[in-house]
Amino acid sequence: MIEWRADLHCHTTASDGTETPAAIIDLALKCGLKALSITDHDTIAAYDEAVPHAKEKGLPLLPGLELSTLFQKESIHILVYGFSLRSEVIHNLVLSQKKRREERNLKILANLKALGMEIKEEELQKSTATGRPHIALAMMEKGFVGSVKQAFEKYLGEGKPAYDGGVRMEVHDAIKIVHDAGALAILAHPHLLNHKKVLKALVEMPFDGIECHYALMPKDREAPFLQIAKQKGWIATGGSDYHGQFKEHIPLGSSWTPQETFEKLYDHYLRNETAAG
Ligand code: AMP
Ligand code: ZN
Ligand code: FE
Ligand code: FE
Repeated sequence: MIEWRADLHCHTTASDGTETPAAIIDLALKCGLKALSITDHDTIAAYDEAVPHAKEKGLPLLPGLELSTLFQKESIHILVYGFSLRSEVIHNLVLSQKKRREERNLKILANLKALGMEIKEEELQKSTATGRPHIALAMMEKGFVGSVKQAFEKYLGEGKPAYDGGVRMEVHDAIKIVHDAGALAILAHPHLLNHKKVLKALVEMPFDGIECHYALMPKDREAPFLQIAKQKGWIATGGSDYHGQFKEHIPLGSSWTPQETFEKLYDHYLRNETAAG
């Protein structure tokens, strides 16, 4: 029998995924997923289309997003689950993140121009949360690089000549805002952190959970993170981080969250939705 699976980490065209919100719901059903959370970078714009579509198709959809934050110069992603889509705190949060992103993108474009690769803002693919993958795509279309991968490796990756991280929220402040919204803050893909001491400091922060099952990460690498979840009494989540064509080797549903955990998160969401009136 196929396991009950909820993929709680994926991206749509509202950020740097290549499937529309409706298409990703159709794909989730086709893959046999029993529930889904769309976690676009710094935006919940996908939910305008996703909510009615998921309802029509009968797929439980947990509101989520993936926040870009900073800790000791390291980029930290926080998965946020269970807020009401009407939460004013969340709406203000995504608005300020959008502004930060747009300012950061302009800096990257200026860096590229200085390197002799001119791309205008209006030449980037339209998205609520435009990011480096869109810039990489424009670089490829203009013939500056041969692939998106090459654009990151040579210019856009952290520490590369066109990189700019922009002004990001500190993890502590971000968790506080998430909690003000009555939502849950989950440390995303902890195995991708560059420094052990950063993980050590992060596990002392008031997160509610940690992403233990990720994309194609082998099962034998999950143990230390499952151990942290157990020690801290944190929720252990999982998801594919599906981006469609931007990460074509990772299929939707390749990692997932089991039913009991999903239901806990979904109940949390329903309570917030009821409280929002
Ligand atoms: P941004 O949020 O605009 O800084 O862009 C970050 C996103 O770029 C990540 O979520 C990935 O989807 C993508 N990304 C980061 N590094 C790479 C890389 N080396 N190759 C391809 N995509 C990448
Ligand atoms: Zn992404
Ligand atoms: Fe991420
Ligand atoms: Fe992601």
